[in-house]
Amino acid sequence: MARRKLIAGNWKMNGNLAALAELQGIVDAAAANPKVDVAICPPFTLIAPAVAAQPALAIGAQDCHEKASGAHTGNISAAMLSEAGAKLVIVGHSERRADQFESDALVQAKAVAAIGAGLIAIVCVGETEAQRDAGEAIAIVTGQVRGSIPADATAEQLVVAYEPVWAIGTGRTPTVQDVADMHAAIRATLNETLGAAGPAVRILYGGSVKPDNARELLAVNDVDGALVGGASLTAAQFVPIIEGGAAVS
Ligand code: PEP
Repeated sequence: MARRKLIAGNWKMNGNLAALAELQGIVDAAAANPKVDVAICPPFTLIAPAVAAQPALAIGAQDCHEKASGAHTGNISAAMLSEAGAKLVIVGHSERRADQFESDALVQAKAVAAIGAGLIAIVCVGETEAQRDAGEAIAIVTGQVRGSIPADATAEQLVVAYEPVWAIGTGRTPTVQDVADMHAAIRATLNETLGAAGPAVRILYGGSVKPDNARELLAVNDVDGALVGGASLTAAQFVPIIEGGAAVS
């Protein structure tokens, strides 16, 4: 099945108003490469200014609360993100699973809230290095997929991002064969869990995607895009990744 590739940037806790100047080059690259979808997920405070500066670019958030409103100091709801102009939200990033002790059940509740507010949920999964060394990577990741995705999600509402924890921010990546094996296992799990919607859900690869490895990774079967951290912070690094995705689309 043909799926449009999505190249999404996760700025994490980086960036400021001045950094939004980087978006112009990204918007220009998105316009020049219409075969791929492009999104940037800046910190919460930059969502509305980013949307105002670049209305044509899909802007997302990096987390949302699972509840619609209430006494949850410091949190933000999916509807608030939507009102700020966000179109998508990352949930279950491994940094939040580790730092904020987020479980699969919580990530699933956040994805349900995101979809309920009209956002696309990018649900992240990925094994640690110890789990891979123990030969458990596929079992761990497919278990996370089962536990973290809403069972009735459609392909328009849900994206899955496979991000091996040990590849994030390290400059290390799995082999092309390991990526192919994992994405095939995730695809089989999506088909099993979501039925007819499974084949159309996009599965992104994330973890040290850079201009020099993007094209090879994006050409792998069932790799439907990339979730990019460090290399999404500048147009100089992110644009070649967009172009790599278009070249193999
Ligand atoms: C990420 O955190 O989603 C990520 C993939 O980071 P990096 O590209 O910097 O490894």
